[in-house]
Order: sequence, then structure tokens, then C-alpha cells
Amino acid sequence: MFCYHCQEAKKNLVCDKTGICGKKENVSSLQDLLMFSLKGLAYYCCQAEEFGLVSDKTNRFMARALFSMVTNVNFSATEFVTLIDEAVRRRDSVRDKFKAAYQQKHQQEFQQPLAEEAEWQYDAVDEQAFTDKGAKVGVEKDHELLDPDVHALQETLLYAVKGIASLAVHNLEMKVDPLQYIDQYRFIHQALSFTLNKDNELEDVLQLVLHSGELGLTAMGLLEIAHCKKFGDPVPTTVYLDAMDNPGILVSGHDLQDIEDLLEQTADTGVDIYTHGEALSAHAYPAFKKYFNLVANYGGAWQAQKTEFPKFNGPILVTTNSIQQPKKTYEEKLFSTGMVAWQGVQHIADRKAGQRKDFSKIIDAAKQSKMPTALTEGAFVTGYGLKAIMKLTDQVAEAIKSEKIKRIVVIAGTDGRHKERKYYTELSEALPETTLILTAGDVKYRFLAHDFGQIEGIPRLLDVGQSNDFSIIISFMQGLLQTLGLSDFNALPVSFNIAWYEQKTILIMLALFAMNVENIRVGPTLPPFFTPPILDLLADRYGLKGIDTVENDIESIMAGN
Ligand code: SF4
Repeated sequence: MFCYHCQEAKKNLVCDKTGICGKKENVSSLQDLLMFSLKGLAYYCCQAEEFGLVSDKTNRFMARALFSMVTNVNFSATEFVTLIDEAVRRRDSVRDKFKAAYQQKHQQEFQQPLAEEAEWQYDAVDEQAFTDKGAKVGVEKDHELLDPDVHALQETLLYAVKGIASLAVHNLEMKVDPLQYIDQYRFIHQALSFTLNKDNELEDVLQLVLHSGELGLTAMGLLEIAHCKKFGDPVPTTVYLDAMDNPGILVSGHDLQDIEDLLEQTADTGVDIYTHGEALSAHAYPAFKKYFNLVANYGGAWQAQKTEFPKFNGPILVTTNSIQQPKKTYEEKLFSTGMVAWQGVQHIADRKAGQRKDFSKIIDAAKQSKMPTALTEGAFVTGYGLKAIMKLTDQVAEAIKSEKIKRIVVIAGTDGRHKERKYYTELSEALPETTLILTAGDVKYRFLAHDFGQIEGIPRLLDVGQSNDFSIIISFMQGLLQTLGLSDFNALPVSFNIAWYEQKTILIMLALFAMNVENIRVGPTLPPFFTPPILDLLADRYGLKGIDTVENDIESIMAGN
């Protein structure tokens, strides 16, 4: 086992026996074989695109399969065996169609040396055989074959591709026209296929890595538009944290369509719906405000589930990611859906075409449950979606000109277990009162309860939503640039401090690099897959840095570094 693609890799190096996330060695090998197989499929998709032979179904499959490997999404060996088999069958089908079209066009057979990924076969669909094969084709395989820095950037590219794929799945759920996503799909094929070459130059890999950031940002923007089109433009909303008297269902993850389906089926049933983690942002959408049973947010970010879920007493639905090995105390009440899976955890099947997802099983479980045990009281304010935050552009620009706002500090990204993450609480609370704080993603739980006050009537803390909503922050910055008559992003008094955890937050960092934004802090640790020369290169070109003490960072941030 060799996995270092999230912030919780053991000792910030690598999980080599079992994952800190709970991923077992066999699942890690199966994921490696799935990635290996998808590279083969991508190779033929790249060839077949010229002939228009890549179907929407294959693109969707590719996106779902890649998303399944994002940290904390899917831990089911059975599921990975099925995905590997489908990847190889799809590869062979695309290959056969492509070869026929090629033969017809060129009057000769397609001949090219093939990587093993493009031609490996198996005798039977067998979990043990797939696991054994996977153990030989993981990250370490390329360690031996490639320049270490090229390898580091290629791994970064693969993680970014997983992030883009997860956004593709979210966009598909929201019925975004696949044609709008075609650049992302083509890029996925191109990037995976590219990693099959053994003589890639560092600068070429870097260009693809940067392009992945651009495409990730576009994908976030598409999703934001789709959410607003379906559920309305988010409005600043006070979300209560108390527990009510009815039994409830706790929803975690990013999937707003699942939340709508659940609300529709629980309205007037006496079952309340509570949000957890990234689902918090649901409260801000006008379409959900008519459901009086969307009552509160329960608990904090994803990593708190082992202590918070048992106290909820009712069933819990994990919609997109961030599932952890369940404790016995709530295992039977846990439900997964979408690409999320943990062996033994009940799974709610995908919705049938034109229908809502069937949540009757989880609703029945809720009706038998006790009301939640209160964790805390109080309230959060969320919902500075694109329209709401853009309304503040002139006011913020004026406050910058009059130096009432000296710096905008973006603290965005994902929360996690490391105790060093208390840095984000301490930093936000210690920032001078002349700073405006923008946030997206569940790192906000580190400071959302704090009263930051206002600057000239502008709340000092503005929460735009989920980590997927990071594109809103970029749009707001572009609006400020225009209003202030500036052309260079780096002329804005803004500092980015990105709390990374998994592959979607890697995309945020890459999007900032692609925009040539300087002085980005990434923490609580720098990615373990970056080699020292790659860290030097990113520091030289983009001013990438890790976090320091709160005092040192505030001094540096306020000095514009
Ligand atoms: Fe370790 Fe993260 Fe990989 Fe899990 S996803 S095995 S915690 S590096």
C-alpha cells in the first residue's frame, strides 16, 4: 500500500500499512488497479474522440469511477471490483469501435506501442486476483520509472483529475448539459493518457496541472449556476444549532438534490431534517425555505462524526463524501448514497429517471428514533452566494479605499483531524479588525461561531458556502478589481490561506496558481506528494508557502506577503 493523496497521510509522508482514513490495504490496491484501468480507457477515449466515438455514458462512468477514489468517499472492495471490470469492458468497447473507424479512414490497421494499461486482461472477475494485480501497479510503480519531480507533478495531476471528476458528478446530479462539461471530460482523458508516457518533461506536466486548476474553477462555476437555477440564489441566513423535539434525519455531504428529495418526502411527516458538515449551506437556498422541517445544523465538520453521530439518535445520510469507519454505536443508523460506500453500511440506490430518490427506508428508521440530544446552542450565518456577495462589492471597494478594510483574508477549504488545525481558529480570531474574512468549505467550523463584528455595516466574516463554491470568491475578487480600476489580481489587498485535505481542495490551490495569484498559504501541512524541488519551484513562481505561527503569519499577511 502506498497512498499519500490527502493531508492526513501518516506522518505527512505516506499511509503504507493501512490508511489513517480507514482505507485497508486491499481497497488501496483495488483503487490503484482502478486508476490503472481508467488510464487504459482514457488512452482509447483520446484516440476515439477524433471519430466522435466517446459516449456520454462512458464519460459519466469515468467521472463516477474517479470520484469513488476521492478520499473518504468509497471503501467498498466489492464496488471497486465492479468498477474495474466495467472500466476494462468499456476500454475494449471504445478500442474496437475506434480501430474499425481508423481502419475505414486510413485503410490500414491502427498500430502504436501500447502501455500495459491499454491492454491488460484478466481471466475472471475475482477480488483477490484484482487485489494482487493492484498491489503491483500503484504509485510506487512509477517511482522507479520516472524522474521524481515529474512523478510528483503527475500524481498532482491525477489528484486534480479526481477533483474535476467529483465536480462532474455533482454537475451531472444537477442535470448540467454534458456538452457544457465536454472540456473537462476531454481533459480527463488527455491527462490520464498523458501519464502513460515515460518521457514527459516537467514543464509539460506543470502546464497540464495548471490547466486542471482552470477547469476545476470552471466546473465549480457551472455547479454554482446549476444550484442557483434550481434552488434560487442563496441569501444570508441564520442557521440554528439547537435540537428540536421531533425525531430527525442528519444529512452530511454536498448533494443539494438529495437534500431536496429528502425534504420533499419528509414534509409533514413529523421528521425533522438537520444538516452536518458541508450540507450547512442548504439552509440558504430559497427553494428549501418552504420546508419547515429543515430545522437546524447539527454538529460541525466531517471529522467530528464519530463523536456527534451517536448523539443524534436518528439515522444519518452521507451523500457525497467524508464517510469514516462507523462506530458500533451508530453503524446501523448510517446510510450512504451516490458514490459513497462503506462495506456493510446500508446504501440508498440512485434515483430512477424522472423520479425522486427513494428515501422511504431512512424515513421509516427516523420515525422509530428518539429526538436528537442537543450538542450546543446558538447560530451560524451562511449564504453569501454570488448575488448576495456581489451586492457588497461597492461597499467593500469603498472601505478598501478609505482603509477601513486593510486586507481581505480568504480562509477556505476543508477541515480535518490534525490538532494543528486550531491555527485557523486562532488566526481568524487574531486578525486585526481591519480585515474582512471570506470563507468556503467546512474549515469554517473552526471559526463560524465567533462574533467578528462588522466593518462599516459589512459583516467581517462572509461564508459563501461549500468548498465547491470557491469560484464565488474568485468572482467577487474580479468584481472588486473592476470596481477599483485594477487589472492585476495581485494588486488587490487579498491573501489566500487554503486549508487542504483532499483532492477538491487541491484544485483550489491549482486554480490560484493558474491565475498567477501570489503568496498562497497552504496548511496545516504542505502536500506530501510535492518533492523539495517542486516545492521550491512553486515557491519561486507563486510564492507558495506553508503556515507559520499565527503571529508571524498575521504580520506577513498584513504586509501583503
Ligand atoms: Fe492515508 Fe489519506 Fe490515503 Fe487515506 S486517503 S490512505 S488517510 S493518504
